[in-house]
Amino acid sequence: MNLEEETKFLMKKYRISANKNLGQNFLINEQVIENIMKTAEISKDDVVIEIGPGLGTLTHELVEKAKKVIAIELDEKMIQILTERFSLYNNFVLLKQDILKVDIQELIKNQDLEGNTIKIVANLPYYITTPIIMKLLEDKVPVKSITVMVQKEVADRLTAIPGQKNTGAITYCVYYYCEPKQTMLVPNNSFIPEPQVDSEVIKLNIRNIPPVNLKDEKLFFKIIKASFMQRRKTLINGLTNAKIATKDQIKEILNTLKLPENVRGESLSIEQFAQIANQMK
Ligand code: SAM
Repeated sequence: MNLEEETKFLMKKYRISANKNLGQNFLINEQVIENIMKTAEISKDDVVIEIGPGLGTLTHELVEKAKKVIAIELDEKMIQILTERFSLYNNFVLLKQDILKVDIQELIKNQDLEGNTIKIVANLPYYITTPIIMKLLEDKVPVKSITVMVQKEVADRLTAIPGQKNTGAITYCVYYYCEPKQTMLVPNNSFIPEPQVDSEVIKLNIRNIPPVNLKDEKLFFKIIKASFMQRRKTLINGLTNAKIATKDQIKEILNTLKLPENVRGESLSIEQFAQIANQMK
């Protein structure tokens, strides 16, 4: 049976249809699974946290290749299927939880995983891609890399170079914590049901040392978020509206950094945002 037949068989056997509200698009393309495994570089030394295992297509590869797989799934029906499907694997742990509510640091402690190389792998539910990525990064989960399938448009934003095209506040956040790279474009017919858009597999390698020195990390991200809240406005307007500083204070900083007073946040590099934040301290 190929993956498409297997997926249809499982859906029929358990009488399930994909739940759109939970972003269920099941992978049926063998090449993509291969690419994800190659990109994530999973070995027998690695512990994998899989977000949204669904029917277990990717999980099946992961339990074979990794030392241990911790899978976090919200849908009760998937839990039932996964429990039966992987009952013989003693390196598989299944948690029925909402990924956005999981304290991953706590999970790592509870599962006795400290000291292991931990990698996150997932075909993410698209309706919560950004909150999941933000959570993983802001919680500073101690992982080596995050290999995920996301919508193409989101992949472009997550892997863009700060200060250039296609950026958002999350571009800076990803770039601060990780070295991002795009790996494979995935056409929408690689899933059941087919999503409306194409997807992409990206890998975020967590940095050991951040690319800029900051006096106050929180302030740095507050400034970036405020300047992207109102993309078309100047940095001065964005930051004064968010009450981060007065107009005069920002003008002075921009003059010191030799930046024009009408500069917009989206054209600033990560170094320039760091300089602005450090000047405010
Ligand atoms: N990994 C499977 C695959 O590649 O075929 C399924 C991927 S599907 C795009 C996303 C999965 O995430 C679904 O199984 C869905 O039930 C699960 N999911 C959705 N929201 C979730 C949440 N908040 N926490 C954990 N899992 C969630």
